[in-house]
Amino acid sequence: MYTPLSFMLTETETRQHILSAISVSAPEEVDLLSALGRYAARDLLASVPIPRFENSMMDGYALRAADSEEGSSLKVIGKQAAGLDLGLSLQSGEAIRIFTGAPMPAGADAVIMQEDVDHVGDLIHCRCAAEQGENIRRVGADLCTGQIMLRRGDLITPGRLGLLASQGLSQVSVHSLPCVSVLSTGDELIRPGSGPLKPGQIYNSNGLMIQGLLRQLGVQETQVTHCRDDLQSTIDTLRQFIATHDVIILSGGVSVGDHDQIKPALLALGIQPDLWRVKIKPGKPFLFAQTLRQSDSRPVYLFGLPGNPVSSYVTFQLFVRSAIMRLMGAVEVEPLRIPVRIPTMLHNEGNRPHYLRGQIRQGQFFPQVVQQSHALFALSQANALLKLDEGQSLAIGDLAEALLL
Ligand code: AMP
Ligand code: MG
Repeated sequence: MYTPLSFMLTETETRQHILSAISVSAPEEVDLLSALGRYAARDLLASVPIPRFENSMMDGYALRAADSEEGSSLKVIGKQAAGLDLGLSLQSGEAIRIFTGAPMPAGADAVIMQEDVDHVGDLIHCRCAAEQGENIRRVGADLCTGQIMLRRGDLITPGRLGLLASQGLSQVSVHSLPCVSVLSTGDELIRPGSGPLKPGQIYNSNGLMIQGLLRQLGVQETQVTHCRDDLQSTIDTLRQFIATHDVIILSGGVSVGDHDQIKPALLALGIQPDLWRVKIKPGKPFLFAQTLRQSDSRPVYLFGLPGNPVSSYVTFQLFVRSAIMRLMGAVEVEPLRIPVRIPTMLHNEGNRPHYLRGQIRQGQFFPQVVQQSHALFALSQANALLKLDEGQSLAIGDLAEALLL
């Protein structure tokens, strides 16, 4: 069904392969607030311009600019606040008291700020001249009717929620959220909170970490399940998840050890991984597979992350993140990279590109002292990754690109 790629792929080839395999999830209409953090399923045109009508930018007086100069006096003939348009108009020599957001009276072509006049009785005395158009918000200056205000694949941000609400909408069409499960494997793992550790045991930290990474992507509902390093239980758990989930994120068990059951379990289920092993450090044993769910023929994507916490984290950021974003309908899925200065000599003497974990402070990338793939504390302090290609050296003061976490 799928061509197995038996050679070790580069990071770019891996990402390209995965992205080309992903089908974007179906659209659905949801309430605006529920759309936050999701991706627009279609282009939307504005039906209400911004501003919708000509209005005042300031609290002040609407007038004719030609009537205003230092010392000129005008008669105040009415008042217009934000709210219903009273339909006021003025002639030469007249002014109308006006407030921020209030519709402009007919005949006026400027608003003078209240700080720039003295109001005595029914007269204002100008301290300076107003310019034509001053302090007036023009119809459609920000957004015109018919203009594209949201494109398919745009992230729904709080600003865009405001924009959609300003159009009078209460719902928007976004791509549906994938149903994702996290399956961590390992005989040594116990659930945090389930009691003290026996000799040789550790707490399952990847499960929660991956749930956190998913939540940051907008996937709220996830479940973490644990499975022992036992072929039959791995097969059974995988079979069950494939029947119920769109994405399965596996942690651990993807290497070549006698206890690594993910690949044998997938093969037993008739699933040949699309790719296994990537030319990066950390994260070499990364695996990607896909299958079709029997009940509804929908695709199910499986990501096998190496168990070492840093490897899990890095491969999630490099591969799973963009895949899930694409599934959720995002068009722009590349990780954010920014230029940084290198404050210390760096060299990669290995034979794979190395993603160093580090901190960006004041535009400089400081690598963590401990760079091993089990170093969860060092990872927890990092806010960026820096890629050093095989054999690459960077000197103090060099510019490089860091990937923001
Ligand atoms: P594996 O990829 O299963 O060979 O595991 C590699 C290393 O990561 C081992 O030291 C495991 O104990 C550790 N590890 C695997 N899964 C987890 C997990 N869920 N949480 C924390 N450490 C893990
Ligand atoms: Mg293991």
